[in-house]
Amino acid sequence: MTRLAGKVAIVTGAAAGIGAAIAERLVAEGAQVLLTDMNEEAGQVLAQRLGQRFLRADMALTADREALFDDVASNWGRLDILVNNAGITHAAELDDLTEEGFDRVMAVNVKAATFATQAAARLMRKGGSIINLSSVNALLAIPNQIAYAVSKGAIRQLTNVTAVSLAPRGIRVNAIGPGTIMTEMGKSVMAGEEQRRLILSRTPLGRVGDPEEIASIAAFLASDDASYITGQTIYADGGRLGLNYTMPG
Ligand code: NAD
Repeated sequence: MTRLAGKVAIVTGAAAGIGAAIAERLVAEGAQVLLTDMNEEAGQVLAQRLGQRFLRADMALTADREALFDDVASNWGRLDILVNNAGITHAAELDDLTEEGFDRVMAVNVKAATFATQAAARLMRKGGSIINLSSVNALLAIPNQIAYAVSKGAIRQLTNVTAVSLAPRGIRVNAIGPGTIMTEMGKSVMAGEEQRRLILSRTPLGRVGDPEEIASIAAFLASDDASYITGQTIYADGGRLGLNYTMPG
C-alpha cells in the first residue's frame, strides 16, 4: 500500500514498542519518517533498518523539541504527519505520589504533545494529520496510576480542542486509545501470572494486543481514508471498554 507516498512524518518515542511499529508501518505505506526518541542506540538501529533518519530528543525539553522541528524545517520545509507517541507511566498510590513523579508524567505525556502539536501545525501549511496516543486509562482507573490516568484523560481533551482549533487550517487531530499492548510498557503491567489473568478477565478478545494492531490505526488516521475524521479517539482494547464486570471463566 502506498497511500502515504510523498508524505513526511515525525514519530516520537519511535525506538521501541508502539512507536517503532508505527514508524515501520508509515514507511511501508510510502512515508518518509523522522524517528525520534530519548533512546539513541535503539532508535538509530531501527532508523537504519527502515532507511530513515533518527534524531535524539527528550520530548519534555523545549530545546530538544525546537531542534527536532528546526531539523524538519531545514530538511523538508514542511510536515504532513505527527505522531505524539512518546509516553511514560509512574506507579504510585495517592499517598506515595510525589510532585516530581507527577510533573515528569505530565511533561512527557501532555506538555510535549501540546507543544509538538503547536510546532507541527506551523509546518503543516497544506493541512496534515496529528495522532496522539491516549489509552483506555483516559476513561478507566487503576489506583496506582494516578498521574498516567490524568495525563491520558488530558490527551483525550487535547485531541478534541486542537482538532477544533486546527480544523480551519485543514489539520486533523485524532487519538488512539490502546488497551494492553505487548511492549516494554505492556510487559511491566503484565508482570506475574495473577496480573495477566486479571487483565485477560477484562479483555473480551482474550488476548493482549500487538503494536502492529495500533500501527495500522495510525496509518489509517494519517491517510486520506480518514479525511472526514477529526477530534476522535479510537479505542483498540480487545473490547475492554464495553465490558461490565469480568469475562466468565
Ligand atoms: P514503551 O515504553 O515500550 O516505549 C516508549 C518509547 O518512548 C521508548 O522508546 C522511550 O525511550 C520513549 N520515550 C519515553 N520518554 C520519552 C521522552 N521524554 N522523549 C522521547 N522519547 C521518550 O511504550 P509503548 O507501550 O510503546 O507506549 C507508547 C505509547 O502508547 C505511550 O504514549 C503509552 O502511554 C501508550 N499506550 C501504551 C499501552 C500499552 O499497553 N503498551 C496502552 C495504552 C497506551
